[in-house]
Amino acid sequence: MSDGQASSAETLTEHVGTDIDINAFRSQLLSWYETEHREFPWRETDDPYAILVSEVMSQQTQLGRVVDAWKDFIQRWSTVETLAAADQSAVVTFWSEHALGYNNRAKYLYEAANQIVDQYNGTVPADPDELTSLMGVGPYTANAVASFAFNNGDAVVDTNVERVLYRVFKQVRQADDPPYELIANAVLPTDKSRIWNNAIMELGGVACEKTPRCDEAHCPLRQWCHAYQTGDFTAPDVPTQPSFEGSRRQFRGRIVRTLGEHGQLSLDTLGHRIRVDYTPDGTHGRDWLYGIVTDLADDGIVNMNIEATAAGTAETNSPDMSQDDKSELPSSISVSLQS
Ligand code: SF4
Repeated sequence: MSDGQASSAETLTEHVGTDIDINAFRSQLLSWYETEHREFPWRETDDPYAILVSEVMSQQTQLGRVVDAWKDFIQRWSTVETLAAADQSAVVTFWSEHALGYNNRAKYLYEAANQIVDQYNGTVPADPDELTSLMGVGPYTANAVASFAFNNGDAVVDTNVERVLYRVFKQVRQADDPPYELIANAVLPTDKSRIWNNAIMELGGVACEKTPRCDEAHCPLRQWCHAYQTGDFTAPDVPTQPSFEGSRRQFRGRIVRTLGEHGQLSLDTLGHRIRVDYTPDGTHGRDWLYGIVTDLADDGIVNMNIEATAAGTAETNSPDMSQDDKSELPSSISVSLQS
């Protein structure tokens, strides 16, 4: 194990405990990103100049509005040299015509292009410290460019990433002054800053939004997420509980937490543990629970083991099930978290 990996493990143990299988956590988020991410043209390139332009444009501007502007910009000034040789006023006018706001950013980008040509022979520097010497490039943008263009950055921590870390890790929520950067860097897999930063930012952008879409967006962190398990979805930028479409999500979270605590449980034992009014053949009984558990199984979160024993045998022998159960579900169903 390298020193970096060792210190990551120590940081995670100190700040988020040892309950999490960090390798599974990382690989599930990366797999989710591969299938669920939005297509943005700057994600299809590793041209540092094009990525620098996208990062400067997306400072305080919604990504959806940046797409057309970025394409037009790159078509007009396709290299750092062409931008450096342009008229500054043309760049500022372009910025204004594309409603990107904060026109100073156009001026700074133009000046940064000239710095790159004059001081770096037209090559965008890969080092985050050198990137911060460019006009208009602060530590956040420098790190993002180093990461997305050169796979050479630290964790990129914006409000989306903070929201994810706050919701997933109970210890972050409980800290007076959460060390977001420290934890984000400890979670970051070695040598994968490009894809990892894209993945965790995307999760915050399309799943862990202010009103989260945990199930609808197939969030891959549900089995570890404290917010999902407790139903408390507040966050640093969400001071009050967001409204939801119903309570089903909260019961999904309870199921995941209960299985995490107790391991495999029969369907009825699980039912009794997650709601006091559970009765196998009641409104919120076995059929209701079976529907939720089936969805969780379809989402790859739980395993359902069904034993097709002769009808009646398992029910009468099971302390979990009532004698007058009228459900037509298989007689013995047990549920556990997928590993
Ligand atoms: S389970 Fe929900 S709250 Fe937790 S990280 Fe995923 S989207 Fe956010």
